[in-house]
Amino acid sequence: MTIHERSSDTLRPLDNSTVEAFAQSLRGELIRRGDAGYDAARTVFNRMIDKRPALIARCAGVADVIAAVNFARRNNLLIAVRGGGHSVSGYSVCDDGLVIDLSRMKGLYVDPIERTVRAEPGLTWGELNHELQVFGLGATGGYVSITGIGGLTLSGGYGWLVRKHGLALDNLRSVDLVTAEGELLTADATRNPELYWGVRGGGGNFGIVTSFEFNVYPVGQVLAGLVIHPRTAATDLVRYYREQSPSFPDELTSAVLLFHLPAAPFLPPEMHGLPVAAIAVCYAGDLAAGEAVLRPIRAFGQPLADTIEALPYRVAQTGADALWPPGLHYYWKSSYLSDFDDAAVATFVEFAERAPSDKTVVLIEQSTSDALRGIDPHSTAFPHRAWPLNFLISTGWEDAADTGRNIDWTRAFMSAMKPHLEDASYSNYTFLGDANENWRHDAYGENQRRLINVKNRYDPANLFRLNPNIEPRL
Ligand code: FAD
Repeated sequence: MTIHERSSDTLRPLDNSTVEAFAQSLRGELIRRGDAGYDAARTVFNRMIDKRPALIARCAGVADVIAAVNFARRNNLLIAVRGGGHSVSGYSVCDDGLVIDLSRMKGLYVDPIERTVRAEPGLTWGELNHELQVFGLGATGGYVSITGIGGLTLSGGYGWLVRKHGLALDNLRSVDLVTAEGELLTADATRNPELYWGVRGGGGNFGIVTSFEFNVYPVGQVLAGLVIHPRTAATDLVRYYREQSPSFPDELTSAVLLFHLPAAPFLPPEMHGLPVAAIAVCYAGDLAAGEAVLRPIRAFGQPLADTIEALPYRVAQTGADALWPPGLHYYWKSSYLSDFDDAAVATFVEFAERAPSDKTVVLIEQSTSDALRGIDPHSTAFPHRAWPLNFLISTGWEDAADTGRNIDWTRAFMSAMKPHLEDASYSNYTFLGDANENWRHDAYGENQRRLINVKNRYDPANLFRLNPNIEPRL
């Protein structure tokens, strides 16, 4: 299956001297079709996405980002912005246009006194937390370590500290951002406050963030891991999770997952490939209190294995990496879920059983807490604060020949779950290329109108449109 962008663009042909002058203006590297490294540079996490940009600007710093935005605007080039390259919808690469690749921008500065970090947009969560751990600190964001900080933060940001400290965007104190006009602005609570409101949930719609400033927290050891049950126990385990999770304290972030065990260092080799049901946990708080909270979860039923242990937070954040290897074909659909009755549980378990690929993970995670409910849904552009659960089908497969049946199965699964799902979804967990016309409502809810106003002000020509796009009213 070929994925097309939703809008086609008329491109002005570029002559060599124009391109050469642009290349010379960069401190970083300009990669063109035919250059060594072109194919590696256009490859993103999701192998479903196979696009051939005209140019890839590997930016070395803010000056390069400004030059690239100005070059694209003047030459009417479609822009794709790449941070960690994990966009499931494939927004970080395009056909024919210019990829503004931030992945080499990995500078960071930790202020351990103020408990803040300034981070450049090419960092992954693993890299950021690796440095923060030196100070006994950690940042919210990312259930896996290799996702980029940029795309994850700008549209939301779930991770192992989310129920205690909020989403990644809730901890965003300020950004430096290059606008469509090539201007560098700072946005925070007092400078460009409307832009600051919009970047916290509005995706990459308003410009390219060149610096993120986050609040970070003391996090030493956490209790993290999986309680793994045989798949035959899935219905009981999922019901148990449904019943018990509402009383979990905010220190505990968790999910229930159905998947096949990957080859992972923390599992004996003979378990590789087993279909299982598991509860994944991370308790960030007093460890003795955490042991008590986790005891009944670990004692439930007859687990095959229990990998929960005290780990440095940055190590815990790598625990789920093996479930999402780069380079597979991925097709994700998700929606928030409030009505998780026995019929929904049965559908969830039955569809998982029939998954065409053993690389697929289906899960339900807790998506609220006292801390999240305490945040006004209009105080940032991200509206989803109180839905109890988030349902995700992360379909993954190796062989392109299996694409059709994996996508068909995912769509059938979503349709069967539909009666139980909210008209609300997290755009970062959803392949939007074939989304229905209501997706903007589902992603932005009542914040949509205000987002259009911010878009009109900062990007009225929709230069930044490969994202969960907010169309300006021209
Ligand atoms: P990219 O593909 O590089 O960027 C995606 C888009 O974000 C860009 O096209 C652009 O529109 C925008 N963007 C990125 N950086 C900038 C910037 N600096 N300025 C302006 N716009 C920018 N989400 C969660 O909330 N929690 C998770 O734990 C989580 N785990 C994931 C695990 C995997 C394996 C995958 C594939 C995805 C996961 N996601 C998760 C979803 C994730 O949030 C999105 O895929 C997100 O887009 C990834 O950000 P990125 O920078 O890596 O992506």
